[in-house]
Amino acid sequence: MLHHASKHLSIHFRNTTRRLFSMSLVSHEAFSVEKRVAIAAVRRACVVTSTVFNQLVRDRTDTLRKEDESPVTVGDYAAQAVVNTVLRNAFPKDPIIGEEGADALRQESNARLRERVVALATNALKGDLIDGEEAQWGLGSQHELSSEALLQAIDEGNDTGGPNKRMWTVDPIDGTKGFLRGGQYAVCLSLIVNSQVVLGVIGCPNLPIHPADPDGGKGCIFVTVRGQGAFQITLSGTGAIKLPYFRSERSYVLQSEEPKHTNIPLIRRVSDELHLTEWGMDSQAKYCSLARGEGAVYLRMPAPTIGDKKPYEERIWDHAPGSILVEEAGGKITNSEGAQLQFGLGRGMGENRGFVATVDEELHERVVLAIKQAQLAEDAETAA
Ligand code: AMP
Ligand code: MG
Repeated sequence: MLHHASKHLSIHFRNTTRRLFSMSLVSHEAFSVEKRVAIAAVRRACVVTSTVFNQLVRDRTDTLRKEDESPVTVGDYAAQAVVNTVLRNAFPKDPIIGEEGADALRQESNARLRERVVALATNALKGDLIDGEEAQWGLGSQHELSSEALLQAIDEGNDTGGPNKRMWTVDPIDGTKGFLRGGQYAVCLSLIVNSQVVLGVIGCPNLPIHPADPDGGKGCIFVTVRGQGAFQITLSGTGAIKLPYFRSERSYVLQSEEPKHTNIPLIRRVSDELHLTEWGMDSQAKYCSLARGEGAVYLRMPAPTIGDKKPYEERIWDHAPGSILVEEAGGKITNSEGAQLQFGLGRGMGENRGFVATVDEELHERVVLAIKQAQLAEDAETAA
């Protein structure tokens, strides 16, 4: 009785952010259904992306041109159809924020693409149920799926976001360039409640299972709920390992592989100052590598803009799942000035001059300082 009363009082007197945190501490069951749903959605979307890679990309990595987006388009649509179908069935009222609608797929000229997307999504959703999955989420062979329902599911991802709501973010293939290269990409899903990320699940079909064995088996799913720690499981949903569980001999700074997404010279200045070794990787797999202890820092600095072009505004689906993973692994993430990341502004994350994530708080402080110095040096050179 007393236990319940004190629990109630502590919840009553805390602000919204703290309340969520304390609730998940008192009950290890917080968001447990959401967690199972998210793992099911991501796991099945990874089946789609791996199938697309094996059927459309694997034997063509030499001949595929960067502009050849067709495997990305098929995989993106089909994986999004899978994730959104599962979310729609499990939580019909929750808004979903994702990248694209199905307008293009409905055009008659895209009939072949549409058929392919529908077949891939149907195949992934109809696969046998495993432990933790439920047929009522639209899964298993009993379920009837129409192609119109799948197209509608893709259209569901058009919410505008905002501060005072519960909403999911979906990035069906984060790191499309990595996907085409046969490198890292990620299937990313998060739940945000009142501007705070409370759950993140990231599927990395090409990430080595063991950091010490980069040429060994590949494919991991990273799972985290606020206040409950961060875990790596297998692509079949088993064998949870708590993060972080590894320490590289070198201190790596993870950064985008794509030069257009980052400020390479600035990151070089910071790495030199802090004796870090640069490691380019596509997608939110960077957050996963960092959270399990492979990398020491993830630095994302905006690429310089030309003329009066506005700087790129980061999107919430590109950072919500990764940021909670790092925090729950005991790390810290802020913008490059040390301020909290914003997930309640809409689909974008507002103006900033970069993000810094580390597994170690003391290092975080040193990186923020080193960035400030590097930016001053860069600004001085630009002005000269
Ligand atoms: P990464 O693989 O870390 O470079 O990040 C991939 C993500 O970068 C994509 O999902 C895009 O949403 C995002 N992106 C696209 N253009 C830019 C840009 N100019 N600067 C930074 N990120 C971008
Ligand atoms: Mg992305």
